[in-house]
Amino acid sequence: MSSLTSRDFALQSDANDSLSSLRQKFHIPQHNGADVMYFTGNSLGLQPVDAKKYIDEELEDWKNLGVEGHVHARRPWMPYHENFTKSLARLVGSKPEEVVAIGTLTNNLHLLMVSFYRPTESRFKILCEAKAFPSDQYALASQARFHGFDPKEAIIEVSPREGEHTIREEDIHEIIEREGDSIAMMMIGGVNYYTGQVFDMNSLTKFARAKGITVGWDLAHGIGNIELKLHEWDVDFAAWCSYKYLNSGPGSIAGIYIHERHHGQRDIPRFEGWWGHDKGSRFAMPDQFEPIPTAEAWQLSNVPVLAMAAHRASLDLFDHVDLAELRARGRKLSNYLREVLLEVAELTGREIEIITPANEAQSGCQVSVLFPGLGKDLFDKLLAAGVIADWREPHVIRMAPVPMYSSFEDIYRFGETLLNVLKEA
Ligand SMILES: *Cc1c(COP(=O)(O)O)cnc(C)c1O
Repeated sequence: MSSLTSRDFALQSDANDSLSSLRQKFHIPQHNGADVMYFTGNSLGLQPVDAKKYIDEELEDWKNLGVEGHVHARRPWMPYHENFTKSLARLVGSKPEEVVAIGTLTNNLHLLMVSFYRPTESRFKILCEAKAFPSDQYALASQARFHGFDPKEAIIEVSPREGEHTIREEDIHEIIEREGDSIAMMMIGGVNYYTGQVFDMNSLTKFARAKGITVGWDLAHGIGNIELKLHEWDVDFAAWCSYKYLNSGPGSIAGIYIHERHHGQRDIPRFEGWWGHDKGSRFAMPDQFEPIPTAEAWQLSNVPVLAMAAHRASLDLFDHVDLAELRARGRKLSNYLREVLLEVAELTGREIEIITPANEAQSGCQVSVLFPGLGKDLFDKLLAAGVIADWREPHVIRMAPVPMYSSFEDIYRFGETLLNVLKEA
């Protein structure tokens, strides 16, 4: 391969980057005695080495303290979720009182829509992206039906134009201009899970809100990946999971953001539970619900401490890095992956099309690649050679080098492997 994409270039790039050492804080799965080439941090982030220690500490405290651990554990369980407030606020760009670690993503979307999808007869539509992540599609359609609307009428999907892969923001504007008065809520994946397209959440939020539309973003692929400023962008609500770029373990605790303008309102519809009740009087067990005047009012249950312990191990790592530097490293890794793919295409005469926008404002870590004419066979061969990527029918491979633990060398080794596999194909 050329000097830019050579092994020396890769090794040098790793050696010159101070954040490369973060990789040692993670367990890298092995294949034939070597690190796998792991590119699915957008699906399940790798395990932080400290996750076990943090979980063991909670098991130990539970063993030794029983119920007393709620108050006397090293990190008391009752307020355990408060350990995340600052870290999450920094990651999503909000005030601390606007975020809380809670539940799981799809559950949270439903809870949030209880408060933020309040359709009327004339304003009942939901604006979302075509081919949203299936769980979001099901959540939106079932919410529409729950309120007595036919999803076919209530849900407006913005699609890429004929022959294009990504959505044009001007097309979203156009729909809002035309149908805004009938749209109650816009909810889109801030980073599309399939193409990796990043939306201009700032301008889209402001544009939609000016039309009276409530705006929420699904940040499953956004948090820990791209820069977010939810408060400044004036976003109404957002939700994410923590097992993708946040490396907190399968199905681990998720999180929500709710703009402060929605806090402390007694008449906002909300499904409520004791953990959302005022902390001072919670254990007086009063009949009347008194909401905590922050996003914590949306909490239902006492918190799952074992899942949260892994979350803590992961967020500790984010707390100690400069997020702009981390993002810059992510960009370099993704750009290097693009270079390597183009070079392999050239060397093999194969068509390889990258559908993720190249524009820096419209992309994060993920690179989605089309291999026309090559079926899942290609993916299986890569897997057998130690490349962990993500295959989507009919011929897309999604790959996300992540700046926390991916290396330039991983990408170089992937290029070599792909070259060999394609030469044999
Ligand atoms: C990963 C992902 C989900 C998964 O939802 P869970 O409730 O955590 O299973 C939902 N929506 C989007 C956009 C995702 O990327």
